[in-house]
Amino acid sequence: MGSGARVGDTRSAELYRRAVKVLPGGVNSPVRAMRAIGRDPIFVDHAHGAELVDVDGNVYVDWVCSWGPLIHGHAHPALLEALRAAAERGTTFGAPTPAEVELAEEVAARMPAVEMLRMTSSGTEASMSAIRLARAVTGREKTVKFAGAYHGHVDGLLAEAGSGLATQGIPASPGVPAAAAAATVVVPWNDPEAVSRAAAEHDVAAILAEPYAANMGLVPPRGEFLDHLRAVADEHGALLVFDEVITGFRVARGGAQELCDVLPDLTVMGKVLGGGLPAAALGGPHALMERLAPAGDVYQAGTLSGNPLAVAAGLTALRMLDDVAYARLAATTNELADGLRSAAGAHPVQVVGAPGLLTLFFSAEPVHDYAGAAACDLQAYGAWCRGLLARGVYAPPSQFEAWFPSLAHTSEHVARTVEAAQAAFRELDR
Ligand SMILES: *Cc1c(COP(=O)(O)O)cnc(C)c1O
Repeated sequence: MGSGARVGDTRSAELYRRAVKVLPGGVNSPVRAMRAIGRDPIFVDHAHGAELVDVDGNVYVDWVCSWGPLIHGHAHPALLEALRAAAERGTTFGAPTPAEVELAEEVAARMPAVEMLRMTSSGTEASMSAIRLARAVTGREKTVKFAGAYHGHVDGLLAEAGSGLATQGIPASPGVPAAAAAATVVVPWNDPEAVSRAAAEHDVAAILAEPYAANMGLVPPRGEFLDHLRAVADEHGALLVFDEVITGFRVARGGAQELCDVLPDLTVMGKVLGGGLPAAALGGPHALMERLAPAGDVYQAGTLSGNPLAVAAGLTALRMLDDVAYARLAATTNELADGLRSAAGAHPVQVVGAPGLLTLFFSAEPVHDYAGAAACDLQAYGAWCRGLLARGVYAPPSQFEAWFPSLAHTSEHVARTVEAAQAAFRELDR
């Protein structure tokens, strides 16, 4: 940290002392607290492009990018202009607007399995509603989910969830009714037999998967695993639901379903979809989506759903995502992955990448599931991550979260990161 101030004297520390009195844990979402890496949170003042500036004036290369939404980096001029223009026309009406239709058309044109969508304000709402719809359509109640996957803080989907629960070591949250927990069958990721068994033994409404699991760190599907999910769902009359909140509009123009050529019945979207504002959606074919009210009988609603500011940001963000952008994002991710591998040298780590996503696991073995991710040297990750922060690199403060390269990251940002990573690895040796 450039300021040279003692930790307790920083403005971040002062704000944290005030925050813990009025916000549980001092934050509005658990992973922000940085407890997993043994330090207090950093309060942000502002950010531009790929760089974030904290309230003490420290500058960081930001690889968290708000945990996924900021594929164009912070405060992109085109997004700010779209927001300004939308805000001047009014911030919410509770009535339909032209831009919602345009955004829905844009998404339907991109995502192979999406003909129509229902917008929400968060990924949590979208996955909750997707499960309700799957239950209504199938007349069944159970959901198969994968250990280490995260689908928002929906009661029934918190069992062995990744993201903040993995980070905090919370296997299941108190306050979830037993019936909600019992409606979820948790199986290991990348274990085809376990999926077959679960579908045979239970009345399954939905098999719910992050097609590239990215909330236990990034753990791509192995071999034909996604095809297997499709086949099992078909065999047992369950719906296949892809949670593409992270992968959608990131790993490819049409998400993981396009990249892997496996079509789900329902798709959950969020993060990039809102261009940095609160927007998410569930989507699918007409036959399923028209079960939603008011076209059908499955209730789903939201005061701020399809909010004009969020829709303007999302539409602008998506329209800037052309083939050139995706090629550049993939190249940046590869450059970062190669750099981190060389920085690690002989340290036992695994650098895993997909276009626009990356994780560095502190593990001597390749990681294929949540057990593998949980077996990583979390202490070493924490120390290394603190070392990065001290050198101006803001990496996810948890082994269970992915890095989010953006279109604002340049080779210079990668070089700064690799240099800091090398120094942080050397520090681990001492
Ligand atoms: C972030 C996330 C969610 C939840 O979205 P929120 O907008 O935080 O409610 C759901 N699924 C996945 C895969 C996510 O990464």
